[in-house]
Amino acid sequence: MKTIPLLNTTEQFPVSKIFCIGKNYLAHAKEMGGNVPDSPVIFLKPVTALNTENNDIIIPSISKMVHHEVEFVLVIGKDGKNIPEKNAAEYIFGYAVGLDMTLRDIQTSAKKAGLPWTLAKGFDTSAPISPIILKEMCDETSFEICCRVNNDERQHTLTSKMIFSPEQIISYISKYFTLEKGDLIFTGTPEGVSEVHNQDIIEAELVGFTSIRHQVIFQ
Ligand code: MG
Repeated sequence: MKTIPLLNTTEQFPVSKIFCIGKNYLAHAKEMGGNVPDSPVIFLKPVTALNTENNDIIIPSISKMVHHEVEFVLVIGKDGKNIPEKNAAEYIFGYAVGLDMTLRDIQTSAKKAGLPWTLAKGFDTSAPISPIILKEMCDETSFEICCRVNNDERQHTLTSKMIFSPEQIISYISKYFTLEKGDLIFTGTPEGVSEVHNQDIIEAELVGFTSIRHQVIFQ
């Protein structure tokens, strides 16, 4: 079973499912040339995509164009189904910052052919994630996330700019999937996604709390 460390402890948190949300920031939806969705766009990554301990991001040789997507991650702390928005916050155990690494060329051709994105988004090492901050350790309503490539800032936003809030996302997902303790929800990336190259260093930060640093290796 894959686990993620809890920040400032020796404990490990076992991970169940990994949900990801697409197009959850207006400026990113625009830069991708698409419309703003009426309801959250959901896809899954397998748990084997998780990448902790700042390990390298290994890009499969099928791809020549890879993008970073920095994302605020919700960590689910108890099981639930059909969760009303007003109760959704009770299901949040903690937070993390993650990267939804994307084989953009593979995703673009899959979209054109009407095929799933799984390979473009779910390959091994495609989900780098920081240690988890317990919800009770941070009394915030909006978080700041940012991403740098080789020390150059590419993405920076406040999570209050999300189109669908954490409560709306949890409520929506739980209509169709049983949420379980150990589930992660990558809540979508803001504008500024850009291409990375072999040996680039990507840093992602949940400002004031935690950060990660990974090297990209093209196979
Ligand atoms: Mg994403």
